[in-house]
Amino acid sequence: MVNPATEEVIDEYLSTDASSVDAALRNAALGQREWASLRLSDRRDGLRAIADMVTEHIDELASLESLDVGKPISRARNEIASVAQAFHYYSGMVDKICGSTIPVDGGIDMTFREPLGVVAVIAPWNFPLAVASWNAAAALAAGNAVVVKPAEDTPLSTRRFAELMATQNLPEHLVQVVLGPGPTVGEMLTSHPLVRKISFTGSTKTGKAVMRSAADTMKRLTLELGGKSASIIFADSDLERAIAEAPMGVFDNTGQDCCARSRILVERTVFTDFVDGFIAATAELRIGAPADEMTELGPLASRLHHERVQAFLDPVEGAVVAGEIPDGPGFWMAPHIVIEPDRRSAIVNEEVFGPVAVVLPFDDEEDAIELANSTIYGLSGSIWTSNLGRALRVAQRVESGTLSVNSNTSVRLQTPFGGFKESGFGRELGMAAIDGYTELKNVFIAT
Ligand code: NAD
Repeated sequence: MVNPATEEVIDEYLSTDASSVDAALRNAALGQREWASLRLSDRRDGLRAIADMVTEHIDELASLESLDVGKPISRARNEIASVAQAFHYYSGMVDKICGSTIPVDGGIDMTFREPLGVVAVIAPWNFPLAVASWNAAAALAAGNAVVVKPAEDTPLSTRRFAELMATQNLPEHLVQVVLGPGPTVGEMLTSHPLVRKISFTGSTKTGKAVMRSAADTMKRLTLELGGKSASIIFADSDLERAIAEAPMGVFDNTGQDCCARSRILVERTVFTDFVDGFIAATAELRIGAPADEMTELGPLASRLHHERVQAFLDPVEGAVVAGEIPDGPGFWMAPHIVIEPDRRSAIVNEEVFGPVAVVLPFDDEEDAIELANSTIYGLSGSIWTSNLGRALRVAQRVESGTLSVNSNTSVRLQTPFGGFKESGFGRELGMAAIDGYTELKNVFIAT
C-alpha cells in the first residue's frame, strides 16, 4: 500500500489464497451455527463488546484509515466513531427481529425471520471500515457470520479490526477478513456455494459483475453502487446557507463519496449569485496533510484514481480551480468547478468520484426534476427551498433512494440507505437492513 499524501510505501501483504478463502468460509459456517444458538442477551452483549473495542482503539484505527486512504484525520475519527455506533445500534436489534401472525382460514399462520448463514461483505476503498462494519453489524445482529474483503488498496483498518476481533470472547471465526484483488479473491466469495449473501459496495460496473457471478448459486444480494447525485437549489431557498454547505456537499472526502452532490442545479434567477459564492466558499477549504487536525481535504486515494479523474477533466474547457494543493509528492487535486457544461457531456452524466462539481441552471420545477433524473444513477440528492409543498412535490418525483431537504447529508445509522436505478438495490442501515440479512419463513398450523 502507498501513502497517497507522500507516495511512500507503507505496507505490503499477501493475498489470501483459494484454499484459505475456502477454509475461512467453512469455519464461518461453523461459527454462525454457534452464534445463532447463543442466548439473545449474549449476542446483544457480544455486539456491544465489539462497539466498546472499536471505541477503545478509535485513534489507532482512525490513523490507519487516514494513512491508507489519505483521509483527513478528523474525518477518519468520525468514521471510526460511526463503526462503534453501528455495533451499538444493531446490538439493540438482536431481540427485536420479529415475524408476524396472519389471519387465514382453517388454522394459524405465522412468519419467522431466520439468519441466512455466511454473508460476504465486499467493501470499497473510500470508507473502508465504516462501510464494511455498517453491513457486518446488521448481518451479525440477524444471526449471520461474516467474511469481509476490503478493497485491495485500503486493507489496513479492516485487517487491524480482525486482529482485535480475535481477542473478543465470541464464537471463533464469526468475523473473518480475506485480503486481495476483487477479480480473484472477491470472485472466490461471489461464486462460493457456502456464501448465502453478498453485501457489495462499489462501482456499478463491478456490481454488475458480482451479480453475474452470484447468479449461479442464487445468492441474495445488496448492491450499493455509484451515484451522480443532484442538489437542486431553488431561488426561494436560504441561498447563503445553500452556498455555505455546497462545498463539503460535493468535495468532502475529496469527492470520493458515492453521495457527493456532484451535479448542482440552480434556478436561473440566482445562478450567478450562487456560482460566485460557491467558488469563493470552495477556495476557503483547507487542503493539506491528512494528519493535520485542521485539514478538510486530503489527496485522492491512489495514482490510478488520480489518472481516472484527470481523464474526465482533460476534455473539459474552462473549469474553475478553487484552492491550492501542497507542493511535492502525493496524489493531490484541487476542487474543480465546471460551470454550465453541455447537459449531454460525460462530466455531467458519469460518476467522476473526485473533486469535480458541475453547476447547471434550470428554468422551473419541471426542468429541475427532468435534469435530476437524467442519469443512470439514483443514490442521493438534496432539495433546497423554503416552500414545504415544493420540497415534498419534488422529493416525490426525484428518482433516488435518499434525499434531504435543506441539507446535504445522506447517511444515518437509523435510516434505510440504498439506490434506485443503476445505483443498486437492497437497503443497508436502519431496521430495513435486517430484511436483507434474513429469510422470511412462513409456517401454517392447521387447527
Ligand atoms: P470497485 O467496484 O472497484 O471495488 C469495490 C470492491 O469490489 C473492492 O473490494 C474490490 O476489490 C471488489 N471487486 C472488484 N472486482 C470484483 C469482482 N469481479 N468480484 C468481486 N469483487 C470485486 O469500487 P471502488 O473503486 O472500490 O469504490 C468506488 C465506487 O464505490 C464508486 O462507484 C462509489 O460510488 C461506490 N460506492 C458506493 C457506495 C454506496 O453505498 N452506494 C458507498 C461507497 C462507494
